[in-house]
Amino acid sequence: MLGGQMPILILKEGTKREQGKDAQKANIEAAKAIADAVRTTLGPKGMDKMLVDSIGDIVISNDGATILKEMDVDHPTAKMIVEVAKSQDVSVGDGTTTAVILAGEFLKQAEFLLEQGVHSTVIANGYRIAMNEAKKLLESLAISASDDNTLRNVALTALSGKNTGIAYDFLADLVVKAVNAVAEERNGKVTVDPSNIKVDKKNGGSINDTSLVNGLVIDKEKVHPKMPSVVKGAKIALIDSALEIKKTEIEAKVQITDPSRIQDFMSQESDTFKRMVEKVKASGANVVLCQKGIDDLAQHFLAKEGIYAVRRVKKSDMEKLVKATGARIVTELDDLNEKALGKAEKVEEKKIGDDRMTFITGCANPKAISILIRGGTDHVVSEMERSLNDAIRVAAITKEDGKYLPGGGAIEAELSMRIRNFANTVGGREQLAIEAFAKTLEVIPRTLAENSGMDPINTLIKLKASHEKGNSTHGIGLSENAVVDMSSAGVYDPLRVKKHALESAVEVATMILRIDDVIASKKSAPSGPPGGMGGEMPY
Ligand code: ADP
Ligand code: MG
Repeated sequence: MLGGQMPILILKEGTKREQGKDAQKANIEAAKAIADAVRTTLGPKGMDKMLVDSIGDIVISNDGATILKEMDVDHPTAKMIVEVAKSQDVSVGDGTTTAVILAGEFLKQAEFLLEQGVHSTVIANGYRIAMNEAKKLLESLAISASDDNTLRNVALTALSGKNTGIAYDFLADLVVKAVNAVAEERNGKVTVDPSNIKVDKKNGGSINDTSLVNGLVIDKEKVHPKMPSVVKGAKIALIDSALEIKKTEIEAKVQITDPSRIQDFMSQESDTFKRMVEKVKASGANVVLCQKGIDDLAQHFLAKEGIYAVRRVKKSDMEKLVKATGARIVTELDDLNEKALGKAEKVEEKKIGDDRMTFITGCANPKAISILIRGGTDHVVSEMERSLNDAIRVAAITKEDGKYLPGGGAIEAELSMRIRNFANTVGGREQLAIEAFAKTLEVIPRTLAENSGMDPINTLIKLKASHEKGNSTHGIGLSENAVVDMSSAGVYDPLRVKKHALESAVEVATMILRIDDVIASKKSAPSGPPGGMGGEMPY
């Protein structure tokens, strides 16, 4: 070395590393790119994305969380944005695109400030102050109601946010019925567990054939044609072991020296199954739902006894069956008795499309409800399933909280105006960031307008003017292509969804802003970004 000091190497040579402004810029760009990817899907007039994987499987969707889940995202901060969508989906079921677009816009607005020399810590602080204010404002602007019409509008808004295309009203009514059916009141508080509503799909037929089933639908047929197709007064045994003879037992018996004894062993096997079925019969069961396989001989004996049996029932379905029928899952047939059986008024095999399914209706627990989706193709029913799940979640949340906000960008426009006024009262450098927060919110109405082919700038000017005049519920009327009152248009989003979307967008944006060094580390984390976006927000 010539005179100069030896550099101290703390990282291996060749380690990938981005520092300071470069790191920040690259991170912001990656996050913005993700937001841009889902932007065009926002709202009823948003477009769909077609995702094609390496073996050519296709998913067509308008759902932010689904699109991002299917996308092969590599950049670490881009992955953090994808986590926001996931967290939004898991916690509240809707508003995923909104959360991602907001996160991207928070960073875009921050970029302008960074260029003006505002430090990222100041921006993060300003955003946090604004978020606190926004939370209070959202609470005070929320409209209290949880009647059926409100639930219907919330469901309708979530459904129309997706391009299901047709039959919205009919589907929204199904959702309201389902949510009301599973709602429970405990200590004066309404709770709705959406997982009580089982959404099943079977392609074929039309969307209008989608129906509410007062019980559970299992996508399995009875195992033997001689079994009854309908069992009234069903007493249901749930078994999670195979009604088969274990391999090892057979192998032990294969050591036959005298050929004439084969017949004996065959009849011994048959006896074993007969005894199994006798145990089932002795318990009083007339329906057997088995999580594992059922041997042909066992099927034969079950059919002979007039017992309806289904095999290879999904584990998740078994759990739902426990809840619905009050049955206890047994592993050993010796444990099967009257008390372990579940009850339902009827178990029936029905032909749906080309398949046969098992309907368990009039369950002991009336809170067991299913929606069976029908529709032309696999893609249609799959996208419908996603829309319906969103709609069920928002209706359930609204039933629980009894609070909603006007949609169509109305709440974002109102919040933006109020936060801008609030910024003036704060002053200091943070004021700039609070103003950027206010500006960020406008991305929602602007994108809704843009996606429906309206002039985004003019529409936003009209919308802002309307809010300045005190029309706090005015938003982008997509059927009218004009600024209209979202309350009378019935475009409602639950308070919880909006709040969560904003909170997680702010959280991830500030987290990304604070990063000034990206270093390739030895081991890649098993899943998700550090800090885990799924947890409680630190506000
Ligand atoms: P997200 O994944 O964020 O829920 P969506 O594509 O479902 O995205 O779009 C949701 C947005 O569309 C919300 O702001 C909602 O208020 C708005 N929206 C839904 N239906 C309408 C409508 N009929 N008119 C105007 N805006 C609507
Ligand atoms: Mg939605």
